[in-house]
Amino acid sequence: MLIDGHGRTVNYLRISVTERCNFRCQYCMPEKPFSWVPRENLLSFEELFSFVRVAIDEGIEKIRITGGEPLLREDLDRFVSMIHDYKPDIDLALTTNGYLLADVAERLKDAGLRRINVSIDSLKPHVAYRIAQKDVLQKVLRGVEKSLEAGLKVKVNMVPLKGINEDEIVDVMEYAKARGMTIRYIEYMENVHAKAGLKGLSGKEILSKVKERYTIHKVGREGSSPAFNYLTDDGYKFGIIDPHKHDFCESCNRIRLTAEGFLIPCLYFDEAMSIRDAVKAGNIDEANEILREVLRNKPEKNRWDEEEGEESSRAFYETGG
Ligand code: SAM
Ligand code: SF4
Repeated sequence: MLIDGHGRTVNYLRISVTERCNFRCQYCMPEKPFSWVPRENLLSFEELFSFVRVAIDEGIEKIRITGGEPLLREDLDRFVSMIHDYKPDIDLALTTNGYLLADVAERLKDAGLRRINVSIDSLKPHVAYRIAQKDVLQKVLRGVEKSLEAGLKVKVNMVPLKGINEDEIVDVMEYAKARGMTIRYIEYMENVHAKAGLKGLSGKEILSKVKERYTIHKVGREGSSPAFNYLTDDGYKFGIIDPHKHDFCESCNRIRLTAEGFLIPCLYFDEAMSIRDAVKAGNIDEANEILREVLRNKPEKNRWDEEEGEESSRAFYETGG
């Protein structure tokens, strides 16, 4: 079992397989970074998997593949199969912008993927364009339909932004609800890479928009999920991820691995340790020791709850959100 320095059990590994992306979302990567990580610095699927095996053996029960845009990494289904074949009952999920999903959804399902989270910030083509800075909506929605047809469980992620998509909070919920998908609203997390001046809606503001249409009841946090859940009067459950709240970090069960091999203990902070050399040398014991040290030093909480305007210098496209 993996326990961090604050007594929390860590059983969830998020792996960012690339920091590259085909969108330029205002809240994440509004401009192409000055330089990408050179391809030769990326760990191969075999190298990433050699660490995944250690992590699973030590107590990881849930793995999410993310990015950047993870579907930019060729043959991602091969990596999915490696993990699934090693531990078929692992809870294996993917977070994607959905743009390249339609053509690969079935292959990913066949490889052992169970669940997909797709980011849908708007159902209006011009607003989706404004956020992602690309004409994306049609392909994303087709990706969702193909995933559902393939039998994948799909969740929708939406980041509500002031003056941009706040009027669509209920519409995106209705879209998800009509297809049996859960929606999770994510509070915009301030970071230095995002477009200047961007403002997100707080969980409270998101909730009041939903209340204009529905009577809602509190359900609460479930397990270690960062989402606080609610139920509409007609029985639809949705969640709000509210990192600005104090209790968000109390049950944090996750650790992040980047495509270059950095183990990141918290989304907010810059601290990281590399397993790259250990993995390249096939030194699994050393990789395991680095994992344990990162856990010992995992911060107790993020700092988005502190002063107004506190920004993280960590890039979401690097950590995978
Ligand atoms: N490219 C994929 C996608 O967009 O779903 C996966 C990576 S993305 C970094 C993972 C999640 O982080 C997405 O749901 C995205 O909306 C969210 N995200 C990115 N930047 C964010 C920010 N500044 N605040 C809140 N959520 C953010
Ligand atoms: Fe790309 Fe996802 Fe970041 Fe948007 S949120 S720029 S799709 S990594």
